[in-house]
Amino acid sequence: MWPEEAAAIQQSGRALTELRSVGPFTAHFIAEWLRNRPDPPVPPPLRDGFLTYAYARTVLDAHPEWREAARADHQMHTDETDGSSTIEEMAAAATEVGRERIAVTDHSKSLRITNGMDEARLQAQGEHIAAVNARGSGPLILRSIEMDLTPEGAGDMDPRALAGLDLVLGAFHSKLRLRDDQTERYFRGLDNPDIQVLAHPRGRIYNFRSGLSCDWQRVARRAAETGTALEIDAYPDRQDLDVERLRIVAAEGAWISIGTDAHTPAELVFLDIGIAAAILAGVQRTRVLNLLSARDLAERVGLVRATKKHDAIRGSRTDRSD
Ligand SMILES: [Zn+2]
Repeated sequence: MWPEEAAAIQQSGRALTELRSVGPFTAHFIAEWLRNRPDPPVPPPLRDGFLTYAYARTVLDAHPEWREAARADHQMHTDETDGSSTIEEMAAAATEVGRERIAVTDHSKSLRITNGMDEARLQAQGEHIAAVNARGSGPLILRSIEMDLTPEGAGDMDPRALAGLDLVLGAFHSKLRLRDDQTERYFRGLDNPDIQVLAHPRGRIYNFRSGLSCDWQRVARRAAETGTALEIDAYPDRQDLDVERLRIVAAEGAWISIGTDAHTPAELVFLDIGIAAAILAGVQRTRVLNLLSARDLAERVGLVRATKKHDAIRGSRTDRSD
């Protein structure tokens, strides 16, 4: 999570103790490693495929045309559920790191461990956001939610409560350790008519859980067909989707949404990790929701809603004729 590589700090003659959590003892060991340059260790699968924040920043520096993507952050939490801070505090911190648009995506009711919201609380939060937006001093705040999806792809909120939101994320939070192929689960999630983004699709966590497996090419194709965006959750411990799978998504032309999943104001800076992943994977800029204007995003969300509704009606007609 350091903003610069230790080697770069040392090269410029500064003290390694400038780095967070590094005291003289650790600085001594890092200096030793930098002197002796042992072969970098091969990370075990649970720690493989993660970018450092320092490296992500260098990728962005080399691709300034992507800087605009940092204007929007499409996932964060507040103290309404399991975040540390108020909407106002997150908005102020987001402005400081250059965001012009943020989506407040607190959890839905069945995720009790996070104090998930029911429809009434979601409605009240939406009214509060409208009042904050009306002041016009901070970033545009999107009324959003990270809705829990069952393994069957069903949401836990009244679709009428979701219809008025600016962006709806859906995410799997249970049965994430199953080892068999979950392609069908992803299809059901992507087909859910009420969501426009599938958040942290793999469900992996650094050094803790490897996440679900599936046929990513078919899943990416289904995402493209349904219009549902796949998320790059830029939280350092998640980085989900990762560069390797994003290459497949890019080839299939599915949409991407990038969010920090920040639970504190300090975590908002990590958006760079998600943008860097998109760059490294060759994602097309025209397929990134963060790069749309607020107006074009609203249009896009409306289109996905209409398309899915239409497909759902068609689907049920087919079922009846069977
Ligand atoms: Zn989540």
